[in-house]
Amino acid sequence: MPNDLSVLRLGHRKGRDPRITTHLALVARALGSNQFLLAGDEDEGVFANVASVNERFGGHMECEHVGKGIGRIKRFATEDAGDGAPGVVVHLTMYGEPYRQVVPRIRRDRPLMVVVGGAKVPGDVFKHAHYNVAVGNQPHSEVAALALFLEAWSGEGGTERHFPDAQLVIHPSATGKSVTDKRRREEE
Ligand code: SAM
Repeated sequence: MPNDLSVLRLGHRKGRDPRITTHLALVARALGSNQFLLAGDEDEGVFANVASVNERFGGHMECEHVGKGIGRIKRFATEDAGDGAPGVVVHLTMYGEPYRQVVPRIRRDRPLMVVVGGAKVPGDVFKHAHYNVAVGNQPHSEVAALALFLEAWSGEGGTERHFPDAQLVIHPSATGKSVTDKRRREEE
């Protein structure tokens, strides 16, 4: 299934949000997303950071700028999730239903888009989303909300991923840093 897990970040502001948006993209990548969609300001710097992580640590998560994002959400939910049929849209919001109750109800045979808000979330997002989902009904962080939701969505072992084409491979260690650097091997 093409692009079966997309994360869409709404309302990116180039001057203020690059760090948190980069963290969203890295959480998306690390927890299994293969597409990161950026709405709001265009920002090549964010995309360059993700490309650099992909290059060193592997994987192919692609990034795309999508204007304001609403049109893309609506199209994904009602027409085309990348394969000509509608997908499922989850909107993370503190006003939503508890995520642990919602996750088991979400169908798994269609591509999923997870929408994360920015400074101000347009009301239409609530309308177009199939599920408005809260990670607790308190305001906190989009990065935390995305990580906890994707952890629940992925199930057990979902945070342990092996990426193809990695140049740097980290080996879990109880005592320190253990990394294979394939670039060095190639040079030797
Ligand atoms: N003021 C914004 C609004 O109009 O709703 C929300 C700002 S909040 C810092 C940014 C984003 O973090 C939200 O849109 C949502 O995606 C996510 N977020 C924050 N708290 C959350 C929670 N308890 N559950 C789910 N998502 C949350």
